[in-house]
Amino acid sequence: MQSLQRLPATAHRSLHKAGSAGAEVVLVDPRGTSQTCPKCGTLKAKTLSTRAHACACGCVLDRDVAAAMVVHHRAFGLGSGHGLRCVSGRVAA
Ligand SMILES: [Zn+2]
Repeated sequence: MQSLQRLPATAHRSLHKAGSAGAEVVLVDPRGTSQTCPKCGTLKAKTLSTRAHACACGCVLDRDVAAAMVVHHRAFGLGSGHGLRCVSGRVAA
């Protein structure tokens, strides 16, 4: 996690706004979030023009959704009850 002194001004404003609204802010290291599989953790390199995440583990997601899931994992961990799973891993009822 970055030290608060090194955060951009926009992040400081967001922290202040969230704090005054009583919200919790969790800072995560954003490096590699779009290159990491949210299901298995494998690094899957892709260019910016590649808009889908497709991993050998079977996880297929929109690139931004996959990155958001990795950010969530980094912020809150993978403990039980996190409610996240790879969409491609869902089984139809
Ligand atoms: Zn994977």
